[in-house]
Amino acid sequence: MKSSKTLLITGVSSGFGRALAQEALATGLKVVGTVRTEQAKDDFEALAPGVAFGRVLDVTDFDAIDAVVSEIENSVGPIDVLVNNAGYGHEGIMEESPLSEMRRQFDVNVFGAVAMMKAVLPFMRARRRGHIMNMTSMGGFITMPGIAYYCGSKFALEGVSEALSKEVSPFGIAVTAVAPGSFRTDWAGRSMKRTPRSIPDYDDVFDPVRRSREEKSGQQLGDPRKAARAMLTAIAADRPPVHLLLGSDALGLVRGKLSALDDEIRAWEAVTVSTDG
Ligand code: NAP
Repeated sequence: MKSSKTLLITGVSSGFGRALAQEALATGLKVVGTVRTEQAKDDFEALAPGVAFGRVLDVTDFDAIDAVVSEIENSVGPIDVLVNNAGYGHEGIMEESPLSEMRRQFDVNVFGAVAMMKAVLPFMRARRRGHIMNMTSMGGFITMPGIAYYCGSKFALEGVSEALSKEVSPFGIAVTAVAPGSFRTDWAGRSMKRTPRSIPDYDDVFDPVRRSREEKSGQQLGDPRKAARAMLTAIAADRPPVHLLLGSDALGLVRGKLSALDDEIRAWEAVTVSTDG
């Protein structure tokens, strides 16, 4: 990748966003990173004065996004790559979790990401180049009890990413949905929103899942720095992938899902085709 490239990464205070910013800076790229406090902005800029630029932005502050992106284009330079990384996990049994928590989950993980894409697209389209990378999750393919809102948001972002890639590839703009497995970030720790339990019927299906996630937090298989390097490889590619899984857990689980889906489609094929004509 040419060292003149500029990345705009949302959510660089920790986890994948921070790791990607650090790896990109180490390879000589310019990085604009969004954070949510002035302190986090100062900390980020101190990583590499003059090439790490912090901007305070909550991605649900939809009305602020266009102005922030325009300002970056004018003062830092053309945004070559947008990485929609900011996001969090909601954990809770669907019946127990208020709709307001689903709205918040989609506001951050889906609407915020879409608003960012809509803000950079006019610039990328005018230049006839650019790359949008959306952090989805293996939870954008596979599901498990207790993360229905999260999986819903990541399935949504997978779908938006794939459709958008078909809309903008004629303009030389690539879209990549990056779906990591479990990685050692703050995702299952400080960042996770956990709805309290209220319906004992769900104890057996969900309590072991919650306990295991809490116990494993910080010891997950995936290394965010290695994920960052993998993402930089995709960013540097002449033809970046539309979907990129990260981690052997994601690979095994997503392959298993696709195979089970294919089995079910086959088992019901006669019923499926019975509706034609
Ligand atoms: P993380 O360490 O908790 O980092 C999340 C980042 O997103 C933080 O910088 C956080 O900022 C920011 N953020 C959260 N809500 C925001 C908002 N409303 N506006 C702006 N920034 C916001 O967790 P992470 O794992 O690196 O998460 C990054 C992405 O990876 C997320 O989209 C997550 O769903 C996805 N992911 C993670 C895993 C995993 O195992 N870790 C797996 C698959 C996908 P603050 O510091 O201000 O909270």
